[in-house]
This record gives sequence, C-alpha cells and structure tokens, in this order.
Amino acid sequence: MIDHCIQPLPDQVIKQIAAGEVIASSASVIKELVENALDANATRITITMNAELSSLQVADNGEGMSLEDLRHCAYAHTTSKIRSTSDLQKIVTLGFRGEALHSMTQIASLQVRSRPHYPTSETGYEMSYSRGGEVISEKTIAIAPGTIVTVSDLFADFPARRHALPKKSQQLKAIQKTIYEIAMAHPDLTWQVYHDDRLWLHLSPVETPQQLLPQILSQFQTSDFQYVSKEIKTPDQEGQSRLELLLGLPDRASRHQRDWLKTAVNGRCVRLPEIEQTLVSGLMKTLPRDRYPICWLHLHTHPHLIDWNRHPAKTEIYLCHLKHWQEQVQNAIKDALQLNSNSVPEIVHNR
Ligand code: ADP
Ligand code: MG
Repeated sequence: MIDHCIQPLPDQVIKQIAAGEVIASSASVIKELVENALDANATRITITMNAELSSLQVADNGEGMSLEDLRHCAYAHTTSKIRSTSDLQKIVTLGFRGEALHSMTQIASLQVRSRPHYPTSETGYEMSYSRGGEVISEKTIAIAPGTIVTVSDLFADFPARRHALPKKSQQLKAIQKTIYEIAMAHPDLTWQVYHDDRLWLHLSPVETPQQLLPQILSQFQTSDFQYVSKEIKTPDQEGQSRLELLLGLPDRASRHQRDWLKTAVNGRCVRLPEIEQTLVSGLMKTLPRDRYPICWLHLHTHPHLIDWNRHPAKTEIYLCHLKHWQEQVQNAIKDALQLNSNSVPEIVHNR
C-alpha cells in the first residue's frame, strides 16, 4: 500500500483505468472484499454467508482503517493504493481503482467495522453508507484490530438482476472457485468460510501451492504433483523474476478437472491466453486422450512489466517480454517432467 490515506483519484487516472462494473454476483463481492483484506496484509480471512447468499461478510486481521478512511472509503474512485497516472506502472496491490466498495453501495447495504493496527487505537468504528457512499451512521465499537465488511440485501432493489442470478448451487461453486484461485496464489492464509451457519470450507496455511492443492482437490496428495520454483532473469531488467509451476504428474492427471489449468501473476489469478496456449501445447502431448492437465503457474515479476488494463475486471493482462516467458514456461515444464522421469510411466501418444 502506498500510504494509509484514502484520496479521490484525479479524472485523468479514472479515464485511463477505464473502470467498469465490478460487482455482478455474490462471487465478485467475495473476490473484491478478500482482495481488500489481502492488500491490508491480512493472514486470516473469515467469510460468513447466509443461506440465500444475499448477505456476505468478510472479516480480516489486516491493517484496519482509520476513522478518516472509514468516512471516505465508499465514495467513487477513492483509494489509498494509487495517486497518479505514473503509479499505474508500479501496481503492487490487488486493488487500485477505488471502485469496489462504492459499487457495493449501489446494489446492496454496506457496513464496515474496522480498527487500525497503526496508529493504534483503543476502539474501532462501525459505519453504514448510503447509495452514494456517504456515511449515514457512525459509532464507536469494541473490536479486534482488522476489518469486517458486511454486504447485505444484495440486489434487493434490483429484482431483474436478482432473478437473473444463477442457481444457489452455481453461485456457491463460483464462490468456491474464487476462493481457491486466491488461496493458490496466497497459500500462507488461514480461511474459514461459513454458509448457512455451518463451516463450509476451511483451508490451513501452508508454505507452497503444492501443499495446498490436496486441501482443494481432496482426491490428490502432495506427492501427485511436481513443483518447480525458479529464479529467472527478465530481459532488460536488473534483478530477478520468479516462476512457480505446479504440475499434476501425467499418471495422476484428471479425467474430470477440465478447468484446472490456472495462471497467476503477482498474487492475482489472471487469464494469460498466450501463456495458457504454451502450457496446453506443452502438456497435452504428455497425456492420454481422456486426461486433462492439472497445472498451476504463478509468475512473480516487476510491476512495470505488467499492464493490468487489458480487461475492465483486471482478469486478463498484458505481459511484457511474452516470448521470453513462453520459453521459460516450456523449460519449466521440461524440468518438472524430468524431475519425475523415473516414476512417470511410458505414455502412449494416440493423437
Ligand atoms: P481499491 O481496493 O481499488 O482501493 P475499494 O473500493 O475496494 O478500492 O476500497 C477503497 C479503500 O478502502 C481501499 O483503498 C482501502 O484503503 C480501504 N479498504 C477497503 N477494504 C479494506 C480492508 N479490508 N482493510 C483495510 N482497508 C480497506
Ligand atoms: Mg479493492
């Protein structure tokens, strides 16, 4: 975080980030709130959802917010994470557009309770916000340091959007996918997720995504995956980047998990179509016809080599030195397969 003071963004920056609608579903509420918790350096995330998924709460043990920040956080285009156009070249946080909380006031009731770690404060505050993001009630409360954001009556005033929502089971699936994607990029977090008053999902902190994946795909064990973590020189760049590749070994590849090929950059799960193509072409030829790769790729590189503005929801990005990354990915696949060459059975290629 650049500093702890929330400020409105200049118009020029607002235009440049081409901000779009960010809240379209219960899963996007969870995603935005958890990303805020991570930007505040939280290590523990507790999510509580009611049976209908119309009330969603994310509690964190992060840095918390000052009274002044709580008064400003739900206005449009207000953020503590960037200040000017030049900051767009060095984004190190998951959020930066200052839109999410404001968007939530537009489609739900928003309440934020928070107490900052620094400057230390004996008490916290509880705020409720109007549709425009103004504070409509403010009170002092006893609360542990950190932040609890509650979004309730989701889409209550938008019957058409409420009816267009997918079935509850599909919404839960989307929420689970969101949580797993964030967790893979941040395996050192503790997650507790409650749905309808029951513990629905729990993840314990681990050091690597290799140790986390069996908690997510319970039919697998840590030894079913090969994990490569390599320091890489980035062209035109002093210092290092890093590539992490987690690969389901060919004999344990999945018949069912078609969507378990995921890519992340600097802590955010994003689509990298060109890199995904490299992964698919490198991996499919190692697999029998009815199997799909289980693959997690995480690139850690310099913020100015990434343009987050390929897609309004920040889900697709441009990477500089794409060819270089593609080569590195090919090498990492070779390394991962070679590491295990003694235990990998001969594979018959029938395509
Ligand atoms: P952005 O994340 O793009 O800055 P948001 O609307 O999501 O925009 O949040 C606005 C601001 O509120 C953030 O910049 C941050 O300063 C503050 N904030 C939101 N959630 C939290 C949280 N869980 N912990 C600490 N600060 C938070
Ligand atoms: Mg945010």
